[in-house]
Amino acid sequence: MTDIFSTIIGSPIARRVGVPQPTRLRRYEPGMPLCEGPVLVAGGGRFADGLVTWLGELGIRAIRALDPNPSDSGEATRLGAVVLDLSEARDPQDLDALRVVGAPALRSLARNARVVVIGTDPATLGEVSHVATHRALEGAVRSIAKELRHGATANLVLAQQDSSDGVRSAVEFLLSGRSAYVDGQVIRVDDRTGANADAVRPLAGKVAVVTGAARGIGAEIARVMARDGATVVAVDVPAAGDALAAVANEIRGTALQVDVTAADAGRRIVDHAVTRHGSIDVVVHNAGITRDKLLVNMDESRWGSVMAVNLRSILQLNDAILAPGAMPDGGRIVCVASIAGIAGNRGQTNYGASKAGVIGIVDALSTQLAERGITVNAVAPGFIETDMTARIPFATREIGRRMNSLQQGGTPKDVAETIAWLAQPGAAAVTGQVVRVCGQSLLGA
Ligand code: NAD
Repeated sequence: MTDIFSTIIGSPIARRVGVPQPTRLRRYEPGMPLCEGPVLVAGGGRFADGLVTWLGELGIRAIRALDPNPSDSGEATRLGAVVLDLSEARDPQDLDALRVVGAPALRSLARNARVVVIGTDPATLGEVSHVATHRALEGAVRSIAKELRHGATANLVLAQQDSSDGVRSAVEFLLSGRSAYVDGQVIRVDDRTGANADAVRPLAGKVAVVTGAARGIGAEIARVMARDGATVVAVDVPAAGDALAAVANEIRGTALQVDVTAADAGRRIVDHAVTRHGSIDVVVHNAGITRDKLLVNMDESRWGSVMAVNLRSILQLNDAILAPGAMPDGGRIVCVASIAGIAGNRGQTNYGASKAGVIGIVDALSTQLAERGITVNAVAPGFIETDMTARIPFATREIGRRMNSLQQGGTPKDVAETIAWLAQPGAAAVTGQVVRVCGQSLLGA
């Protein structure tokens, strides 16, 4: 989507006078290599050797150290990514590896490169110095993300002792173009095992329900999940019936016209999905609305409708989907929250409350459903170019769009790719997480 500001700052005059240009992000397309250029796998953690072997299996060149004399061998090779495994760090002194490895490596990054640091989840550590060391990684990685340029991102994976599958899944996502707008994030993985049977179509054989699928982010979630092999049930209000049918036809899914706030919405979604497709393996709670007003002017209808669509409907649909017979063990629930639910936003007490409530659902339900192997996560989009954000007044919109480390808005596809990753069988170790897809927005940072 182009906008007036992009047109102005991308103009030849603006380029000539040196106005900083946002980098065109490398976004995933099927068949694309995981990353462009070799991957430096550094650090003496417990996952590094396994990652080198795995990268080799994918046909990606992994190197364990930088060439100390790059000028002797002609033009220096640009790194596609740096993976620094500090999972065995014991003491704050061990953090010096960030500087020793990072300084030369960061100078050698290609455009759109990735920096992924692996630590140990402080919640699993007892010794105070160990906890301090691994907690310190958060501050370091979020700062690195702010220093990187040219579309490069930095993210942290916090693992448990035996998190090999989870680490691999998270690193694969973070290295790929799927995570183009995920920056400065911390992703915790536990020690559950899981792998994708089909690397190209990781959701093959899965049935996914997507609410609010007629347009915007929801339509893109439906498309990306279908591309990845899922059979999609696209849900939206009857008033959006034509657009909904068009999306469902395009992706060879089925359309279900239902208002998610209706008392029988859960039963109708379950009946449709189970009768037509056999089960619900994945549900994406994406339907959402805004009805902004300062709290002093907030009427009952604005407050009530936002709560009903964005929060109460999810509770009600989950009750139906989690009753026996709909979602098998190993299922996936992914909610669409918002950075407004983390940072709050002026004029959005109703919306901020509803989206923070969604994060509460993720916290509580992920624990309750752990025994069934059902993961519950949320994605919190920042500024995403959709009809919803196109209605924001010009000046506010431009600030929202630029105030992040990647200096641009995200696309619905960026949100969809993160949700599709969380839905993968390989992401079994990721639960109870809120992954922000916001280019490291300063809001809620
Ligand atoms: P959108 O308005 O373009 O699309 C929302 C869809 O949900 C529409 O098709 C609408 O008909 C549907 N919907 C609304 N109420 C419904 C109901 N009661 N039952 C069934 N369907 C219903 O919005 P979007 O920008 O694509 O946003 C999608 C989600 O992402 C929302 O939850 C929103 O809060 C969240 N989000 C968006 C942004 C952004 O920048 N666009 C940022 C943060 C979070």
